[in-house]
Amino acid sequence: MAKIAWFCFLLFVGTIHSAIAAEPVVSKFSEQYQALTLKLTTEPQQVLTELLDSPPAVEADSTEKAEYYAILSDTYYALTHPQDAVESVRKGLLYVTQKSEPWLYHNLRLIEASALEMAGKPFDGLKIVNEAILWAKVNVDEDTYLLGLYVRGSLFITLNEYSAAAENFLEAYNRTTHEYGKISKANIAAMLGVMYDNRGDYQLAIPYFAEAVAHARKNNEPLNLSIVLYGLGSANFYAGNITIGEAQLTESAVIAQSLGDEQGVGYALMKLAQISIAQQDYALAEKQLQKAADIFARTENAPMDFQVARSLLVVALASGDYEKAQEYRDHAMRLLDPQTMPSDAIQLATLEGRLAAGQGDFAQAYGHVSRALALSELYNENRSSEQVHRIRAIYEVRESEQANRLLEHQNRSQRFALEAQEQRNVYLWSFSGIALLVCCLLGVMIFRVKAQSRALSTLAITDHLTGLYNRRHIIEQLNRQVSAAQRYHYDLCVAIIDLDFFKKINDSYGHAVGDKVLVAFSQVCSDNLRNTDLIGRIGGEEFLVVLPHTSLQDGYSTLDALRRKMANVSELVGINEFTISASIGLTINAKDLDGMQLMANADTALYLAKSQGRDQVVVHPTSSSISS
Ligand code: GH3
Ligand code: MG
Ligand code: MG
Repeated sequence: MAKIAWFCFLLFVGTIHSAIAAEPVVSKFSEQYQALTLKLTTEPQQVLTELLDSPPAVEADSTEKAEYYAILSDTYYALTHPQDAVESVRKGLLYVTQKSEPWLYHNLRLIEASALEMAGKPFDGLKIVNEAILWAKVNVDEDTYLLGLYVRGSLFITLNEYSAAAENFLEAYNRTTHEYGKISKANIAAMLGVMYDNRGDYQLAIPYFAEAVAHARKNNEPLNLSIVLYGLGSANFYAGNITIGEAQLTESAVIAQSLGDEQGVGYALMKLAQISIAQQDYALAEKQLQKAADIFARTENAPMDFQVARSLLVVALASGDYEKAQEYRDHAMRLLDPQTMPSDAIQLATLEGRLAAGQGDFAQAYGHVSRALALSELYNENRSSEQVHRIRAIYEVRESEQANRLLEHQNRSQRFALEAQEQRNVYLWSFSGIALLVCCLLGVMIFRVKAQSRALSTLAITDHLTGLYNRRHIIEQLNRQVSAAQRYHYDLCVAIIDLDFFKKINDSYGHAVGDKVLVAFSQVCSDNLRNTDLIGRIGGEEFLVVLPHTSLQDGYSTLDALRRKMANVSELVGINEFTISASIGLTINAKDLDGMQLMANADTALYLAKSQGRDQVVVHPTSSSISS
């Protein structure tokens, strides 16, 4: 596990400088954070001292404080202090909430998940990662999503759940468009290499490592190149391509040496020693292991120090040097923690058995082998209960993924429903608008039709020149009034007015002036008759007047007054040469006389007026009031 953590960390830091230079992976972290992350690649211890010397000011905002603890956690992770890494990022999480700073919150959670992985709590890490992945998915934050897949893939490697790890890394590998950084195609390819290598699928690991190597070579990333060459060399060695593997591991060691990456040299030497052992070159193996032992002792990498001591023990046993073997055994024993390194304890007990047997102490050898067996049984027991626990955890992860998918589905349906509703609203508004427009148009149309029909009905009863009733309508009115007067026994005068010598006016002044005279005459009539009196034009310059509730005497007075007003017509039109006059024939209703007969009587009286010299009112001789 420590090896994977180291590998992950180096892969991460090895690509940081290019990530910042080209396309920042964590673009929403502050520049100060990114600068410190960069420094972390070369001087983690110094970064830690700096951070501890200058904690954020009390009045600093919560984002700054959260970022401080995030980088502090990264630093502890780089220095392989898992517990401190977990505690730091958790302090940072006190300053942000999922609501206030969702992006920062979930990115801190991903740091926490990595720290938990190193602290041996990968299950706790998994839950956190799932939440972050769900958030990233819902919020379409591709980078956080890819980082989530990356961290989850690493967690599954730690859990030896290689198919789940492959699923995550392959999805990230297929989705990423990043050229550089932690979630770049090359870096994810390197993790796929690690995953297949751990699973023992060396042939599958090789092309992915090769892709990462090519990328690091092309982009001149020496630290990264040294790391992935180590992976590629190791995979080639286990796949049986020993010469190629050896060359790649040697190149990895040389590059690490030139960069001052002692641990890198140590790892490469360890692997080269495995090749030497396989080739039974124990002298070379011992030399390589001694160098690696120095490095791991100096860098206080206890787990690797143990591995080297054990390999040295194997070499010493193989070359029959039991004195040295005892030394290495003692050294390894000092570094062994049987609680956390159960499989190492079994292997060491077996090797102790071989040592005792080699020294001829078979009773002790038997004791060691029996102990190895007992440890092995215990280990298998623990492993099977751990397996159950793991299966359960994986099941929970799958279940929460199902829930994620369901939630995603619900979100999508809600979004669709909302969009459909919005569409419906648009339709509704458009429809309402159109309906309103149609109503307005209809209103206008109805108004216009009414006005037109009003105008039409007015036209139908009106004489177009004078605006008085036309012949048809005034005769209708006459008949109606005559019937009413007969029924209710009241007087009704009927008169016909004819303008005198009208032809002469036309001849003298023209037809247009003649028209003006007709209009002016109508005006004078309207002004001098009562509202209840009726007048209409029945011929060219002939008018019918109906005066309801009017005695012959009153009728005569009204019409004679009107005749006298004819002087006004000349004035209105502006004719000075002669006075326009009118002759009027008057009659009153009598029993049994209908409208037509009354009109005929009036006409007779008019004829008399004309013949008696015009400009006068003549009453029909037979006229007598029916009411008198
Ligand atoms: P009298 O005193 O005998 O009634 O003589 P008069 O000229 O008025 O009678 P007559 O019936 O001979 O002539 C009527 C004239 O009215 C004939 C016609 O040209 C004219 N007239 C009829 N309708 C109109 C009209 O709408 N406008 C004008 N300007 N003249 C009209
Ligand atoms: Mg006439
Ligand atoms: Mg006339």
